[in-house]
Amino acid sequence: MNRLTFEKVAFDIHGALDDDDDQMLRKMLEWSIERGKEVFIISGPPKEQINKELEKLGIDFSNITIISVVDWLKQADVKMWQDKKGDWWCSEDEWWASKGMICREYGIDLIFDDSYRYKKYMPESTIFVHWTGYSKRLEE
Ligand SMILES: [Mg+2]
Repeated sequence: MNRLTFEKVAFDIHGALDDDDDQMLRKMLEWSIERGKEVFIISGPPKEQINKELEKLGIDFSNITIISVVDWLKQADVKMWQDKKGDWWCSEDEWWASKGMICREYGIDLIFDDSYRYKKYMPESTIFVHWTGYSKRLEE
């Protein structure tokens, strides 16, 4: 069996770090930072909103690279629009393909995410870990 080695690891927030009832994912994030891995948060909302959400979760992001999917799609010239609440939207296909493209661009080795639909677009070099909180893992 091959040992799992990784240098760049990414974490999702919604349904992952914010639904981490046994704190397992947070421990993995902290462990990764302690071991000198390059840690990323890849999440949907604009970066300022992600920062606020991490603050609320009590996660110190000074050693974390934060990537906003919405910001990334905008700079990639993907057609986007805003709803009345101010949330940004794009086509479903482009949305589900986005994290895979981001992982390719940043050379992510390992990603923890609760949305399995991102998996099919991941580059071969990225291991996708379908992650849910402890109580949800028990249901499956
Ligand atoms: Mg999620």
